[in-house]
Amino acid sequence: MFMNDLVKKHIKEKNLKFDCTVFLFLVFFKVVALIGLPIYFYHNEFTWGPWIIFLIFSVLTGMSITMGYHRLFSHKTFKANNFIESALLFFGALSLQNSCLKWSSDHRTHHSYTDTDKDPYNAKLGFLWSHIVWIFYTPTENRYVKNNDVSAETLRHEFPNCQDLIQNPRVLKQHQFGHKLGLLSNFFIMGVMGFLFNDLWGYLLIGGFLRIIFVHQTTFCINSLAHMFGETPHSEAHTAKDSLFCALLTFGEGYHNFHHTFPNDYRCGPLLHNYDPTKWVIVGLSKVGMTWDLKRTSKSKYAFDRRGFKVTKPV
Ligand SMILES: [Zn+2]
Ligand SMILES: [Zn+2]
Repeated sequence: MFMNDLVKKHIKEKNLKFDCTVFLFLVFFKVVALIGLPIYFYHNEFTWGPWIIFLIFSVLTGMSITMGYHRLFSHKTFKANNFIESALLFFGALSLQNSCLKWSSDHRTHHSYTDTDKDPYNAKLGFLWSHIVWIFYTPTENRYVKNNDVSAETLRHEFPNCQDLIQNPRVLKQHQFGHKLGLLSNFFIMGVMGFLFNDLWGYLLIGGFLRIIFVHQTTFCINSLAHMFGETPHSEAHTAKDSLFCALLTFGEGYHNFHHTFPNDYRCGPLLHNYDPTKWVIVGLSKVGMTWDLKRTSKSKYAFDRRGFKVTKPV
């Protein structure tokens, strides 16, 4: 169903194996939400509580991916103190998008080999592959590598493009224990809130399951939609697009054409009016000394005309 001929060929050539555990893990969340939410809504009056928690945790976990996993750890576009790093790793674990180390390794490969068969979420293989199906497939040689195996040899072999992150003890600990920590913390936090506010299923289903699915799907849109629909003001050397729609879903990550063209910039939307809350938080924290060394692309490299559009391309 989700296999076009290009995808089938890619899986065969790369000798990728279907990872049933990951598939069932993602399906489990959707099945519980699909069955549980209608039953919950049918039997309960509307209350704001679970939705406020949905919103707060969507921001905390979603931004830990955009600001943490992506702009801090994958691209090193700024530096942050230990507290910020730890908070981003903790809430990143709560988003259940694998460890920061694995995420960053895949993402760096995506940037190094964009749109080629070495790109793990190559957009040229179609929407479904780049959105979600790629997650279900593992290279055969990495199939049995477990996250708790942090021997120097395994890490060097599995994450050759993340030798810098391997030196970070917080990243390493999150890689080892993040799965369990993320899963248990989600259930624990939502369970305690549900118990305190006498709405256990509301907090578990809306603040937990639905929020995890929402943050998953919006993050995935950057790999799929932001490589398909939008503007290309900065470069046409890759499929990445600038998309306000995707930016609205992902705290500013949607300016993907700028990001792929200037990946070392802490901003995805460089203009003042661009909707990039992740950029605003990074700048805000720099004012109180919690982040610093914010890397910016020289304006001369992305000159804009009077309408605010880039005029020189390709870069
Ligand atoms: Zn990136
Ligand atoms: Zn991309």
